[in-house]
Amino acid sequence: MAYPQVAFRNTTFTGKSILASRRNTVAGTTLKTQLDQFKQTGRYDCFELKWHPTYDDHSMWPVPKHLFWDSDLAKWIEGACYFLETQYDEEIDEAIQYLVQTMRSAQQEDGYLNLHYTVVEPKGRWSNLRDMHELYNCGHLIEAALAHRNYYKNDLLLEPMVKYVKLISNTFGPEDHKLHGYPGHPEIELALLRLYTETGNNDAYKLARYFIEERGNPTGQNGEMFYDWEARQRNDSPWKRSDAYKTAGAHWYNQSHAPLLEQPTIEGHAVRALYLLTAVADLLCIEEKGGIAMTRSAEWLATLHRLWDDMVDRKMSVTGGVGAIEQWEGFGLPYFLPQSTPEGGCYNETCASIAILFLAERLLHLDLDSRYADIMELCLYNNVLTAMSLSGRAFTYVNQLGSSSTHPSTREDWFWCACCPPNYSRLMGSIGGYLWDYDVTKATEGGEEACVNVHLYASATLTFPTPSGDTISLSQSSDFPWSGTISFTLAAPTDTPVTLRLRIPSWTNNTFVLDPSLPSSKSPTLQKGYLTLPPSYTSSHSSFTLSFPPSSFEPRWLVPHPYTSQNTVFLARGPLVYCAEDAFNDWETDHFRDVVVRPGSKIVEEERVWKGEGQDEEEKYIALRTRAWKRDLSGWQSGVGPVRQADSTTGESTTLELDNSREIVYIPYYLRANSGGQGHMRVGMIRG
Ligand SMILES: [Zn+2]
Repeated sequence: MAYPQVAFRNTTFTGKSILASRRNTVAGTTLKTQLDQFKQTGRYDCFELKWHPTYDDHSMWPVPKHLFWDSDLAKWIEGACYFLETQYDEEIDEAIQYLVQTMRSAQQEDGYLNLHYTVVEPKGRWSNLRDMHELYNCGHLIEAALAHRNYYKNDLLLEPMVKYVKLISNTFGPEDHKLHGYPGHPEIELALLRLYTETGNNDAYKLARYFIEERGNPTGQNGEMFYDWEARQRNDSPWKRSDAYKTAGAHWYNQSHAPLLEQPTIEGHAVRALYLLTAVADLLCIEEKGGIAMTRSAEWLATLHRLWDDMVDRKMSVTGGVGAIEQWEGFGLPYFLPQSTPEGGCYNETCASIAILFLAERLLHLDLDSRYADIMELCLYNNVLTAMSLSGRAFTYVNQLGSSSTHPSTREDWFWCACCPPNYSRLMGSIGGYLWDYDVTKATEGGEEACVNVHLYASATLTFPTPSGDTISLSQSSDFPWSGTISFTLAAPTDTPVTLRLRIPSWTNNTFVLDPSLPSSKSPTLQKGYLTLPPSYTSSHSSFTLSFPPSSFEPRWLVPHPYTSQNTVFLARGPLVYCAEDAFNDWETDHFRDVVVRPGSKIVEEERVWKGEGQDEEEKYIALRTRAWKRDLSGWQSGVGPVRQADSTTGESTTLELDNSREIVYIPYYLRANSGGQGHMRVGMIRG
């Protein structure tokens, strides 16, 4: 097993695909767009440690606007290093080298490295772990340092980060003289475990594990919960709380209301929860691979499954978005999944779905079950891909399912809290590592044996070495996600048995054809959603085709759980969830709130080509056309009150303009807000 942030280097994208197209856009446009934003906003040279006017802005409390600048730069460096592997760019290279040099020079003598507590509040170090993101920023810098080392083959960024980790591990830990704290925003845990896995840094492993196991200890610091103790040291009044805390002491906001093993449900800030759980999965993966064992491993695994299930079953939108509540950017009550602001909210931060990819990928190492890969695919093709414009220059942070006049479906060039855009860049830089994973082990009868688990389909080639010096490669070529014929070619030494496991997406209803077929059975059985091709098959068929029949790509209607109390239907095709927007439906002026569709109406597919201004590449997509009706709201004039008599036959409060059906055009949700219009958009329409 290797982290996808390392293993992506074994994958080369070939041919046309959405993923390859987005990667080209990020490499050619987005990295420089984001670099320009860094230069315009003061981030780029912030580690020169001069004062910037933004530091005087106290409009956000308790989080100042520059608090995450360290992590913005770190994520960009990480993503840029991934792309430099395949596409050298002098401007990007020079920017990375400048940033690394300023970060090195900003490090304090004892190893401390943090913008805010060096320039703005130099005496405040470690005084507010709950809110101030010191350890979060450090985590992203560690990840940047690992990516930097892998590309530049030097330790110019890793060396200061190792020194910083030493300082942190001398500050926090179980020993009496150390603080018994943990980060308010988890992230450093997964970064430390990457550092340990890639370099063997034992301090990093111990620190990550301490942060995870100590989290939520009700008596951890001098008999008090750490954040309560910490607040008293700051002389905070008991009712003083950050904006994101629903009430004073609502530590579930950052998953520290109880030890993680005792938490029955996934709560609070979604990105924090998912980064934390990813690190837990990393600890179990390390143990699984024969590394350091956890105590209570079975309970940790059960915790991962329990919280994952709570998220995907009760707290996830149809697009793979999570976090319904804007106030704490996180999970709401079970089945509270509104589509838009007037309905009660819908947040679905980009970073949260990116974090689901991190967690799902780790879970697949612990338990090869396609239900994790199905969610990974759902998040990637919908809530994640929608977060960047096709031009690569505009982004979304919040990904609602329905627009409103308060929050139209639009994009921004940048955000004061800019976590999402560089997170998107680094994910796309390493996305090849999520398509598949591989392993080479010693065979029981001597020699080596290899396996490849294929999770996502595109057009790409995986190439990896074996310990004995041979090379194995597996290519897949497809038109995914538009149609489902995937051609594979395997090249492996004749004396190395290779097992392939191919994911069968749940939305195909397990309908597939393997050609040539397996000799043993006409209908091969799946193991947890994966089709296994044993060495006896792969050694005799270097080329084969997996096909999902056209019927599995037919548009289909989806409905939400009854407890959401929504009488809505969603339209999907393959892994893609669709939406309607006014750019393609110019008759709509009220965010599709008055629009009704009827499952059973004929749906016509139409292949279209998107080519944006200044774009080199054309990109095909499939639009769906069906019928829609408008509700007659004429009986709801103002001043009459909140209710009307229901129709005695239909139980409806309104009538449909039945003589006035119209065509409604749906496009993939990831394409929204690319084609003009006034920002009217909706995924789930009322079922008529
Ligand atoms: Zn974000």
